[in-house]
Amino acid sequence: MFDNLSNRLDSVFKKLKGHGKLTEKNIEDGLKEVRMALLEADVHYKVVKKFIGDIKERSLGQEVTKSLTPGQQVIKIVNDELTKLMGDSHEELKLSGTLPIPVMLVGLQGSGKTTTAGKLAVLLRKRGRKPYLVPADVYRPAAIDQLKKLGVQLDVPVFPSDAKADPVQICQKALVAGQKEGCDTLLIDTAGRLHVDEELMSELCRIRDKVKPSDILLVADAMTGQDAVNIAKSFNDTLDIGGVILTKMDGDARGGAALSIKSVTGKPIKFIGVGEKLNELEPFHPDRMASSILG
Ligand code: GDP
Repeated sequence: MFDNLSNRLDSVFKKLKGHGKLTEKNIEDGLKEVRMALLEADVHYKVVKKFIGDIKERSLGQEVTKSLTPGQQVIKIVNDELTKLMGDSHEELKLSGTLPIPVMLVGLQGSGKTTTAGKLAVLLRKRGRKPYLVPADVYRPAAIDQLKKLGVQLDVPVFPSDAKADPVQICQKALVAGQKEGCDTLLIDTAGRLHVDEELMSELCRIRDKVKPSDILLVADAMTGQDAVNIAKSFNDTLDIGGVILTKMDGDARGGAALSIKSVTGKPIKFIGVGEKLNELEPFHPDRMASSILG
C-alpha cells in the first residue's frame, strides 16, 4: 500500500545522500519533496505540516549539517518522526474488569466490522481466551446471520440475537449468556450505517453506557483514505473510542489513513486487516510500519 510513498521517499533520500555534506538549502529542498510525497499519499494536510515542521527543526539543528553522514541522519529523523506519528509502539486491546469482558466494535457498513469480529475471535482464542460473538445489528438480519455463520465456521459460540429485540437488551442478555457459556470476552458487533448519523451514535452511546465495554474499537476501511480519518474523528468525539482497526490494508490505498489517524484523533491503530481470511489480522506496530515505508 505504501509502494508509491516508499519510492518517492527513496528518491529524495538518494539525492540527499549524494551530496556528502548537506546545506540548509539541500535539506529544505528535500523536505519539500517529502511534503509532496505525503500529500500525494493522502496524508491529512495538517498532519503533513506538523510532521515537516518537526523534521525541519531537528534536521536544521546541529544533528545533520555537522554530521559526517548527513543523508543517513535525515533518514533516521524521518524514520523516528514517522514512528511517532503512528503512535510510537503497539497498543494492545484493553481487556480488564469482571468477566465476561465486553468489547464493542463500531463502524460504518462495509468497513469490515463483522469479518473483524470473527478475526478477533480467532486471535483471542489463540491467546487462550474464550470469545463470545454478539450480533447487535438488528437493522440488517443478514448481518446477524453472517456472524452466526462465522461462529459455526470458527466453532465460537454466538448469542442467538433476535432481529426484533432492542440492541441494548441484546447486549445485556448476552453478558449473562456469555458467562453461562463459560466465555471471558464478548465481541459485540454493533449496527453500521452508510453514513455517520445521530441515531446510530445515540444507540451506540446507549449500549456503551449500559454495557461499559473495556475497549471500543472503530473498524475503518483504509481504502476510503481521508474519509476513514474523518469517520474516526466523529466516532471518537461521540464515543471516546479506545482505538482503531484499519481494514483492507492489503488493498491499493495510498496509506494516508494509517499515517493520519493517530495524529488527528489521538487514538491508536491497534490492529490492521490484511485480507479477507479470518487469520488476516495483525497487531499494528508503528516502528515496523515506518521501517517498511522507508524500505
Ligand atoms: P461490515 O458491513 O462492516 O460488517 O463489513 P463485512 O465484515 O461484511 O466486510 C465487508 C467486505 O470487506 C467483505 O467482503 C469482507 O470480506 C471484506 N473485508 C473485511 N476486512 C478486509 C480486509 O482486511 N481485507 C480485505 N481485502 N477485505 C476485507
